[in-house]
Amino acid sequence: MKTASSYTSDGLTALEERVIRCRKCPRLVAWRQQVAREKRRAYMDWDYWGKPVPGFGDPRARLLIVGLAPGAHGSNRTGRMFTGDSSGETLYPALFRAGFANQSAARSREDGLQLKDAFITALARCAPPKNRPTAEEFDNCRPYLKREIELLQNVHVVLALGQLAFDGVQRTWREDGYAFPRLHFTHGAWHDLGAGLPVLAASYHPSRQNTNTGRLTEAMLDDVLARVQMHFYDRGDAHE
Ligand code: SF4
Repeated sequence: MKTASSYTSDGLTALEERVIRCRKCPRLVAWRQQVAREKRRAYMDWDYWGKPVPGFGDPRARLLIVGLAPGAHGSNRTGRMFTGDSSGETLYPALFRAGFANQSAARSREDGLQLKDAFITALARCAPPKNRPTAEEFDNCRPYLKREIELLQNVHVVLALGQLAFDGVQRTWREDGYAFPRLHFTHGAWHDLGAGLPVLAASYHPSRQNTNTGRLTEAMLDDVLARVQMHFYDRGDAHE
């Protein structure tokens, strides 16, 4: 008989295979492949991934982190969420400090990084031109996020990175039949919606634009993740 944990792992593996083969968005398929062919000078010796980037992390995660989309020369190059992206240089060290990662460095799929109690995904899984998927591309990709949410049965907190992710998570839940008032994005938001939904938390996206301007500091991201850990502690349900 299958355990809940093997159901999740098998389901995530099958989903990953489907995601990697996906070609639903012609504009993004063309762009991710063009970037992978042409490369950036600094990464000429890399064999770019150039495909959709699947979710990454612990199948028993209580924390689900939702970003926007892969970076052209970051995760579109390495094949793992936030890996090689400038945003990952802020996110992974913060996850390490908060106890959600075994190391702070994220360079490639083979760098030994493991997440504990956290899973990272994105609203769109292909690198978009100018870092901006269209509404139709978000719609095309949302079923994959829905499936991850179904499979990750242990999630108690969804942390949306940035307004688009925050709105995208709400839309995903509404499409699944949950009703709740429209929530407005603010950094540090914490919405306990009840009705069997995880808490929806929010942080500014750890993009270079936000970190270089001081809109998001290390301390601000640390505070958000500390609140998540405190929530788990208060619930008293240890990570299995
Ligand atoms: S963005 Fe999502 S739906 Fe569009 S091609 Fe990539 S994986 Fe498929």
